[in-house]
Amino acid sequence: MSHPTSCELRTLLFTEQPARAQVVRLQATWQRIIGGHPYPPIVQRMLGELVAASTLLSASLKFNGSLVLQLKGDGPIRLLVAECSSELGIRATAMFDPAHRFDDTASFNAMVNATGQGRFVMILDPRDRLPGQQPYQGIIGLEGDNLSQTIENYMQQSEQLQTRLWLDTDASCASGLLLQQMPGDGGILSAKPSSELSPGDLAEHWMRLVTLSDTLKPGELLAHEPATIAHRLFWQEPHQTLAVRQPVFHCTCSRDKVARMLRSLGEAEVMDTLKDQGKIEVNCDYCNTAYAFDAVDCKALFVPGSSDFQTVKQASEKSSAKEQSAEDDGFNGPDDPATPSGTLH
Ligand SMILES: [Zn+2]
Repeated sequence: MSHPTSCELRTLLFTEQPARAQVVRLQATWQRIIGGHPYPPIVQRMLGELVAASTLLSASLKFNGSLVLQLKGDGPIRLLVAECSSELGIRATAMFDPAHRFDDTASFNAMVNATGQGRFVMILDPRDRLPGQQPYQGIIGLEGDNLSQTIENYMQQSEQLQTRLWLDTDASCASGLLLQQMPGDGGILSAKPSSELSPGDLAEHWMRLVTLSDTLKPGELLAHEPATIAHRLFWQEPHQTLAVRQPVFHCTCSRDKVARMLRSLGEAEVMDTLKDQGKIEVNCDYCNTAYAFDAVDCKALFVPGSSDFQTVKQASEKSSAKEQSAEDDGFNGPDDPATPSGTLH
């Protein structure tokens, strides 16, 4: 029996076919993400699915950096973001129309694809980005009736990888299962290299894994630990447990990033806000940390000549090209249409 606040991601490699499975169950991490955010239940549920999916996909990549998944909605949900680092540090946030009366039974498309303009975005932001190097970004329209189908389509189109996802969320857990065919050979552990398997055999093996996974009952991914799920589904399929890892909540916000965002707004706007409010308070959309800047702090932001200013000036000159990253930092300007109420107080 695991601790009730545990978080675990388990990776299985099937040894007789080029495929793997990841099972994740987030408790403390998920509860930290939604703590202090009174999301309507349907928003919370869709965010939980995105969080579980980002963890599963991040763990399946050989990549040093952050994977960011976004659902950019054209309906009452405007933006869902989930970010997971290579170390499985996770954060997520949701932006939605606060005036909308959310119906718990509304469809995925009614929430994020009401006029067919909804988008799914996957961003890979390498940790050691070279100067001028932009994060890799892939975008597709929303096809399908749920997030799983959207991501399956994306992986098929962009990576030519057969991927299947099962996602489930409630107020205490965000869970998921990912099945993925692996590119090329099944790997050194493969007793029978995939090159020896005919396309018909490969398809049959894959369908067996999908059929087994489809026996998951509603709530099962939430109720049981990943080890129990893995055993229940795949005990007859030869496999090895490659890794058992512990995801955690991790927000990358900092006072320095807020200072950069304020500089990018420009001195006139910052000073105007300061005049109106007496101080500027910026809340991180992800972790709710409040960063306060009084008159002295604001003045210091725009003092030229200091080395800090030069560094930041260069950074903000690049900021137009890095619009996406600014959004990902969770500090949106007051005029950002994706921000329902503004985070600048
Ligand atoms: Zn934060």
